[in-house]
Amino acid sequence: MTMPHDSSAAIDPVKLDRLAEIAVKVGLRLQEGQDLFLTAPVAALPLVRRIVEHAYKAGAGLVTPLFSDELITLARYRFGHDAGFDRAAGWLYDGLGKAFAANTARLAIVGDNPMLLSGEDPAKVSRASKANSVAYQPALEKITGFDINWNIVAYPGASWAKLVFPGENEAGAVAKLADAIFAASRADVADPIAAWEAHNAALRQRRKWLNEQRFHALHFTGPGTDLTVGLADQHDWQGGASFAKNGITCNPNIPTEEVFTTPHARRVEGHVRSTKPLSYQGTLIEDIAVRFEGGRIVEAKASRGEAVLNKVLDTDEGSRRLGEVALVPHSSPISKSGILFYNTLFDENASCHIALGQCYSKCFVDGPTVTPEQVAARGGNKSFIHIDWMIGSDKIDIDGVHEDGRRVPVFRKGEWA
Ligand code: ZN
Ligand code: ZN
Repeated sequence: MTMPHDSSAAIDPVKLDRLAEIAVKVGLRLQEGQDLFLTAPVAALPLVRRIVEHAYKAGAGLVTPLFSDELITLARYRFGHDAGFDRAAGWLYDGLGKAFAANTARLAIVGDNPMLLSGEDPAKVSRASKANSVAYQPALEKITGFDINWNIVAYPGASWAKLVFPGENEAGAVAKLADAIFAASRADVADPIAAWEAHNAALRQRRKWLNEQRFHALHFTGPGTDLTVGLADQHDWQGGASFAKNGITCNPNIPTEEVFTTPHARRVEGHVRSTKPLSYQGTLIEDIAVRFEGGRIVEAKASRGEAVLNKVLDTDEGSRRLGEVALVPHSSPISKSGILFYNTLFDENASCHIALGQCYSKCFVDGPTVTPEQVAARGGNKSFIHIDWMIGSDKIDIDGVHEDGRRVPVFRKGEWA
C-alpha cells in the first residue's frame, strides 16, 4: 500500500459541487434548523467541504462530521489485541440514537476500498462486524424505519478507483470513477434537481402499478434460478423518494434505480444463483447458489468466499431469510455502464436483487405506524444484517402470482414486461 496522496485534481469541481447540492437538496432535503451528522472517509474531504457549505446555506443548525481512514482501520487488524475485536463504540451509537430521536439528519459518504479487509483474518472481520452491528442496531432501526431523513452518496476515493479500473494510473482511475459516479447520480446534467424530479416520477409509476396488483408472490426463472418469493402481507412497494416519519421526503440512496418491497420471511421456495459478485466487507463472494425451504436458506454454495458466506448466514435467526426483494431493469444506466463497482450502492442498481436479513418496516401500507409485532406477524424479517445480492440479468423472467394462482408477466428477459 502506498501513502494516500491527493488525486482530487482529477475530479471535475463543478460536478462535485452539483453532487454535494444533490446530497443536501434531493438526498436529504435538509430542513432549516435541522442538525446533520455525517460520516466519510478522509479521502472524501473535498466533497464533505462542499456538502457542509450547501448544508449551512440550506439553513442547517449544526453539521457534525466523523471521518474514517483506511490505514487507521488496517492498524486495528495489524496491531490490535485479539479481545478488542468483540468491541464496538457503543457510546457513540447511543449518542447517535439520541441525535436521531432529536431529528438529526444522517448522511453517509462511501468511497473507501471495498476490498480493504480482504487480506485480514476473516474471523476477526466477522467478530468486529457483529459487535458493531449489535451496538448500532437501536440507532440503525431509526434509519431503516425512516424516523428521519437520511442519504448515502459516493466519492471516488483513489483505492476504490484503482480496484474498479485496475488498468489506469491513479489519476486516470479517479477521473473515470468520478465520471461514473456523476453520471449515475445525475450530477452530469445542467439541472440535476429537475432530472431527479423526473426520475422519481418514473419510479413512482412502477411502484403504483405493483401496489395496485397486490401480488401474493413473485416467481423468478432463469439460468440456475427457479425461485418463488412470497410477498409480506400488506407489503408496499417503495422506490425513489421516501417519506420519512419526521415529515420530510428524502432520497435515501444516490444513485437509485430500484423499486423494492418486503418479502414474506416464511414463504420463499426454490433455488437462485447470483449474477454478479458480492463484495462483503472486503471479501468477494462469487457464484452464490442457495436453496430455500419455508423461507429459510437450507443450502448455500459459492465458487469464491463460501466460508464467509456461511459465516454470514449463521449471524442470527433472521440471516438465512429474506428482508428485501428489488426490481431493476437490465437496461438501467448503471447496468449499461458495464462497470462492476464492488459497492452495493451502485451494483444493486444494476440488477434485480434480494437481501438477506433485516426488512424495511417502511415497505408496509401503514409503514409510518406499523409496530415490530405487526411486521413480524405479516412476514417481515428481523436480523442484524442486511446484505443485498444480485440475481437479475437479461435472461431473467419474473411473473407476479396472485393468491388464486393467476399469473401476470412483470419482467421478460430482464426488462419490464
Ligand atoms: Zn435494494
Ligand atoms: Zn437492500
